[in-house]
Amino acid sequence: MDFDFDEQHRLLRQSVRDFAAAEIAPHAQRWDREERFPVELVPKLAAMGLLGIRVPPEYGGSGMDMQAYAIAIEEIARVDGSIALTVASHNGLGTGHILAFGTEEQKRKYLPRAVSGEWLAAWALSEPGSGSDAAALRTTARRDGEGWVIDGTKTFITQGSVGGFCVVLARTNTGVPKQQGITAFVVDRGTPGFAASRHLRKYGCRASDTVELTLDGVRVPDAQRVGAVDHGFADTMRILDRGRVSIAAMALGLGYGALEKAIAYAKQRTAFGNPIAEFQAIQWILADAKVELDAAALLTYRAAWLADRHEPFSKEAAMAKLFASEAATRACGGALQVHGGYGYVCEFDVERHLRDVKICEIGEGTSQIQRLVVAKHVLGG
Ligand SMILES: Cc1cc2nc3c(=O)[nH]c(=O)nc-3n(C[C@H](O)[C@H](O)[C@H](O)COP(=O)(O)OP(=O)(O)OC[C@H]3O[C@@H](n4cnc5c(N)ncnc54)[C@H](O)[C@@H]3O)c2cc1C
Repeated sequence: MDFDFDEQHRLLRQSVRDFAAAEIAPHAQRWDREERFPVELVPKLAAMGLLGIRVPPEYGGSGMDMQAYAIAIEEIARVDGSIALTVASHNGLGTGHILAFGTEEQKRKYLPRAVSGEWLAAWALSEPGSGSDAAALRTTARRDGEGWVIDGTKTFITQGSVGGFCVVLARTNTGVPKQQGITAFVVDRGTPGFAASRHLRKYGCRASDTVELTLDGVRVPDAQRVGAVDHGFADTMRILDRGRVSIAAMALGLGYGALEKAIAYAKQRTAFGNPIAEFQAIQWILADAKVELDAAALLTYRAAWLADRHEPFSKEAAMAKLFASEAATRACGGALQVHGGYGYVCEFDVERHLRDVKICEIGEGTSQIQRLVVAKHVLGG
């Protein structure tokens, strides 16, 4: 995206772009093929400050704003959706929940380790029976003396098997409306009863770690509770507002990355004696993608800017995610079409971008749910 950010943002964009070109792009196809999260990349992400983007310096982080966060995710996604998803969920969900709602003791325990990459963060809201209707979750946490015992199953959890800790949402009260009886807990890897029970193979973002988790009599002290008892769902909604900005940024990066490849390909591929870039039908695919992605970028960076000004941005985040994910899916599809048969085979990256971008229409609230959020706001609900 070529809007003017301030000098600090421009420098960040360039440095993450260079890093992604050197350390991620050359391996992205192989990681996707191997369907494995590249743990060897973690120290490099940490050294770049990408594992503590929003974490204040007092906990070892980069202390950057939401615009910077979106820039970083966009630039990683330009070459690899899996790593963008990993960095987004680590920063925004698991680490973000501790940062926003954790106690000082929890921040001192978890944030420096998250920033250094010693512990990647996972965040477990979704369950086999509840995704969009997240408040219908069935995992329970019951008081047991001074602590809690958690039981249930979580699914689709990013970093579920490679994470060092996981923020788990569980029901703590059944006598109130379902949104008002949920509490967050942070569970350390290795806690008895807490296990990654199944790796999930995926359509896209194949190099990100996605698992089902089981919690079988997991005992945690009350010091592992994050936020107030029964307040976890309200806190979660705030986490997701920020998360949606990062997923919009991820969509942008995947879309722009695919568009760049399509432009380069259209200039060098010839048909009927001409570069295909000279055919108007091809030009329109490229032009539509550029217009839609720039419009999506404006929505995305508006939402980030509002968040940085501490103004309400829930509606704007939903609008950005909705439009950016759908625009980027169209842009990636167009880029594949421009590549013809070469787009469909795996040697060129556009098919990977198209597979990776689809998650942006699903994760952190589907497009249907974003429309519900926007409608609720415009109707004054
Ligand atoms: C790769 C990947 C990574 C993920 N990472 C995480 C993670 O780290 N942590 C986590 O907690 N979750 C994670 N998720 C889960 C993700 O957030 C959910 O998949 C998503 O919220 C949708 O929930 P669902 O899959 O249960 O679909 P459902 O809620 O069952 O929806 C099915 C369909 O019904 C539609 N629908 C549902 N309700 C309505 C309605 N009211 N009106 C109109 N349409 C509706 C949906 O839009 C969708 O099209 C991840 C998912 C994937 C695929």
